Formats: sequence, C-alpha cells, structure tokens
Amino acid sequence: MVQLSNDCFAFGGKLMTIDEALALIAARVEPVEGAESLPLADCDNRVLLAPLHAPLPLPLFANSAVDGYALRSADLPGDQERSFPVTARVQAGSPAQPIMPGEAVRIFTGAPMPEGADTVFMQEDVRVEADGRVTLPPGLKAGANMRPAGEDIAQGAVAIPAGRRLRPQHVALAAALGLTHLTLRRPIRVAIFSTGNEVMEPGGPRNAAQLYDSNRFMLGAMLRRLNCRVHDLGILRDDRAALAAALKEAATSHDLVLTSGGVSAGEEDHVRAAIEEVGSLVLWSMAIKPGRPVAMGVIAGTPFIGLPGNPVASFVTFAYVVRATILALSGAAPEPLIGLPVRAAFTYKKKKGRREYVRASLRYADDGSLEAVKFPREGAGLLSSLADTDGIIELAEDAERVSPGESVRFLAYPMLL
Ligand code: AMP
Ligand code: MG
Repeated sequence: MVQLSNDCFAFGGKLMTIDEALALIAARVEPVEGAESLPLADCDNRVLLAPLHAPLPLPLFANSAVDGYALRSADLPGDQERSFPVTARVQAGSPAQPIMPGEAVRIFTGAPMPEGADTVFMQEDVRVEADGRVTLPPGLKAGANMRPAGEDIAQGAVAIPAGRRLRPQHVALAAALGLTHLTLRRPIRVAIFSTGNEVMEPGGPRNAAQLYDSNRFMLGAMLRRLNCRVHDLGILRDDRAALAAALKEAATSHDLVLTSGGVSAGEEDHVRAAIEEVGSLVLWSMAIKPGRPVAMGVIAGTPFIGLPGNPVASFVTFAYVVRATILALSGAAPEPLIGLPVRAAFTYKKKKGRREYVRASLRYADDGSLEAVKFPREGAGLLSSLADTDGIIELAEDAERVSPGESVRFLAYPMLL
C-alpha cells in the first residue's frame, strides 16, 4: 500500500488547470509495491516492472525478405545483366550452406541467408533460363531484400522500457525473444462507491424522485479497462457518519478509494465532511468544463478521489485525474493524452481561462478531410452525448471560440483508457 501524507494534494491556486493536476499527481503518487511473473498470454495491458533487455538479437539470424535469388554483393551485375548458376535451394526453417563466388542460391522469404550472401533479387525481377541458370538485371543495391540479424532489436538493447503498459505488440516482442513469462506490476485494487439519496440500484425499487445509478457501472468499466481490480461497494447515502465509516473501512484494503457525487459545495454534499473526519481532503476546483469540482484526499495513507455526480463530468474528470492516478499507482510511465487534429464542423463559444471538452463524432468531409461534428446539446448529465459520439474535442484554456473549418484536437474514446 502506498502511504501518502495528508497534505500531498494541497494546491494553493484558485482554479487548477489539468496540467497542474497531472503534475501534482505525477509528483505525489508512488507506485504500489509488489510484482508477479505471468505467462505471456496474461500480460496484455499490464505494466512491465523492469526494462526488458533483449537476450537475443531480432531477427535472430540474417534472412531473406522475399522469394528470389541470393548472391554475394561482390558479384552484383554492373551495368549489364549477368547470369549465374543456381547451386543450392534454401527454404524457411532449413540451415543454409555457404555461398561461393559467382553463384546464386534459390531462397524463400524467412530462409537464412547463406554465409557470404548479402543481397536477394526478387523472383519477379529475374529470368530463369532453360538450362537452369538465372539472369539477374543490373541496378540492385548491395544488401537489398535482406534482413540482417539484430536490425530490429540489437542483442542486449532495451526491447521494452520499464513502466510500459503492454500492448499486443509488446507481448509479440517478448515471444519473439523466446520468453515465456514477464514480470509485471501488480494490478491496482480500487474500491468504488456511488453517493446520494437519489441514487438507486438498477432494477431495484425507486421512488418518483430517485434515479438508477449509472456512474458506478461506467467508472467500474473504465477502471477495468485500466486493468484495475474493482471492488464495487455499492451506494452510500447522504449521511456523513455512514460515509465516513464506509470510506475509512475501504481505505484499509485498497490502493484507491473512488466515489462519485456529493463533492460540490451544497449542504447535502457530505463526502467532503466525511473525508475530513477520517482523513484529509482538498477540493480541486478545476478549470475545466464539464467537471469542475474534484475532491482529492488521503485516508490513512490511501488516496481518495471524489468525482462529480454528473455523468459527463464524472467521465471527463476520470479520463484525466483518475487515469493519471491509476497509471502512477501502477508504476506505468505517463501516457499523455494527445489530441489529433481534425477540422471543426461547428461553431462554439467558450470562456477563456478554462479547458472545455466538446463531445463530437467524426465524419469525412466532401474533400476527404476528417471533420468533427459536435453533439447538438451540452448538458453534463446527458448520457446520450457520451453514448452517441466518437470522442471529445479539447479546447485550450486560451481559446474563446471555434469556427467551422478550424483545426481542433480530437481524442477518441479508446485513447482515454
Ligand atoms: P452531485 O455531484 O451529488 O451534486 O450530483 C450531480 C448530479 O449527478 C445530480 O443530478 C445527481 O443526481 C447526479 N448523480 C449523482 N450520482 C449519480 C450516479 N451515481 N449516477 C447517475 N447520476 C448521478
Ligand atoms: Mg448529491
């Protein structure tokens, strides 16, 4: 378990920018202790503990990139075509004999280069004669169509850096190096609660003023995509003592306690008071829309994050604050969210000084360029605005308006997790 000090999330400024929040998280949140060795099939999306040094070069041996004819570059045709006897045939998986001066060797993709040979003619480019000789055209460069040992990764080089969140291609790399297991950081254990008297379990009883909990399911799913072990602890009522007891208990056995709702400044927002009773809390008033209030706290050394109750605000603040915290706890290298430029197909006015997120879908314009269409409504409670769009557009703090045709930064939903 990490042990954080009470004031570690304190922030002097009034409105906090996303960059300030990310810097504070990176500086204060330490990786959890503990690692495990797992078979490659279980390594995807997990965090590598230590740098992986290549025990072997990749490719393992020099081999042909094409089906064709191998020869020594010293024998390459000059400015005239030249014919060679074909003295051997080497296929993938079979060792090759050395090549002699003046010879060509029939070779196939992936087959080892005969010792001495360093260049391969593609079979499409040559003429096979009636007597079995092969005539090669002029113009090929020494080393063409050959993959030298170690050109991909040199033996001993760092094949995968420490803290990399593994993707399928990293698993492939480890397998290509002959490894069967990798040593990974352990998954983060997260306790998750919803809060509010109006929030009820889907499918259960509800009065006319109550709604079904959606945040807990959205946030739980987001956490699982970040490979957390999620412990769903249900819904807490707007009651300070009950909240305090439940949050304190959860903090003893988890790496992070996450709630949604109850963190604004209303009289019925009790999460704030509850955390102050069992730990310490700072309210981050973030300069973003949607998603202004985020509570950051520490309960007996365990980090606590209280997200706003509105689903869209919860979603956006998760993508920044919770994601960065999980990555830091996981020992993962920071993965900055980099929006890709697309053209705006809408007009939008915003307040200077805060970062705004606009839910949008992508389409191809008539000229073939990608353009973003804004969801027609903006409410922070509209689940359809998240469900029916492809991602969010990030509008910088200093921007005041967006006009059609302007380049904006687009973050597709899969990029956020
Ligand atoms: P709060 O942050 O508690 O002021 O809540 C803001 C809005 O989000 C209110 O309309 C709440 O009813 C709504 N809300 C709070 N928690 C949830 C939840 N778990 N699922 C869906 N909506 C919620
Ligand atoms: Mg509430």
